[in-house]
Amino acid sequence: MNNQTALLSVRDLQVHFLMDEGVVKAVDGVTFDVHAGQIFGIVGESGCGKSVTMKAVLRIVEPPGKIVGGEILWRHRSKQDGSAGDPVVDLVKFDANSKAMRDIRGAEIALIPQEPMASFSPVHTIGDQIIEAILLHQDVSKRAARQIALQMFKDVGIPIPEQRLDEYSWQLSGGLRQRAIIAMALSCNPRLLIADEPTTAVDVTTQAQVLRLLRRLQAQRNAAIIFITHDLGVIAQMADYVMVMYLGLVMEQGTVNDIFHAPKHPYTQALLRSIPTITMTPRISLPTISGSIPHPFNKPRGCPFHPRCEKAITGKCDARTPALQLIGEKQLVSCFLYHDAEVAA
Ligand code: SF4
Repeated sequence: MNNQTALLSVRDLQVHFLMDEGVVKAVDGVTFDVHAGQIFGIVGESGCGKSVTMKAVLRIVEPPGKIVGGEILWRHRSKQDGSAGDPVVDLVKFDANSKAMRDIRGAEIALIPQEPMASFSPVHTIGDQIIEAILLHQDVSKRAARQIALQMFKDVGIPIPEQRLDEYSWQLSGGLRQRAIIAMALSCNPRLLIADEPTTAVDVTTQAQVLRLLRRLQAQRNAAIIFITHDLGVIAQMADYVMVMYLGLVMEQGTVNDIFHAPKHPYTQALLRSIPTITMTPRISLPTISGSIPHPFNKPRGCPFHPRCEKAITGKCDARTPALQLIGEKQLVSCFLYHDAEVAA
């Protein structure tokens, strides 16, 4: 993994939830790099740690969650051109509520949440909320901030934008609210957009429009996008590079071509087998992954996937945890079928 030019380099990140019943290791040693202009997809079932990883990057993990290890190296903006001369800072070392972290959150790294309705206040107009966010991060007048907000509404394709700016979130349809939240996220020209299941709350037609919009905006602005989803179909359409997570660990990383045409990890292979295709015989049950995800308090010893893995090696996979290793040009896998490296105890 080359992190020389990465915008974001996460190294061995660990986020634990310290509960009365025990410790939930929601993220248990995650490593990845995101580069400028890249669409980086993170995929996995519920509870795999994908959203917690992103909350850690934004430093918005709620108690009792805590970052207990690792680094989140961020290429901080010192020049507008985003050249490689920008300083690298470790966001883990920042106070989550400090001005420095608040300046990065929103202005450099912005979030498109799952449910836009919950993200807008119902008692302020959408325009006022976007203008407030712009004034917080940019040294411009209120009039200029309104012009920026108006331009953003035009860019994301909101019809009659002047009128919509003065409306409340509950007056907009689900699709328009999703466009408005994208406009808000882009209003300070962030280098990295984190889109957390951004199409979960909208219908399939709106989903296709939102995905097209995100791709167009990313190409125009050369921003990176981290796209979190449990939907492999969306990942295939959107991502350049994919990371597959399971029980707080990375199972596999690779280009979208590697993951969809030459998946190596048994978990990735099983996920892909469970996607319906148009060439399938009708009324035949889809293959499923046997067993269920273990309870987070009872994580299995060894490879976390071994109780469900058809290729598990007794005495090895149930005793040692495989490390994430490079096995191709850009493909990394944590599985003993391909190498013998293990995570240090
Ligand atoms: Fe299966 Fe063993 Fe590979 Fe884990 S390490 S995915 S149990 S073969």
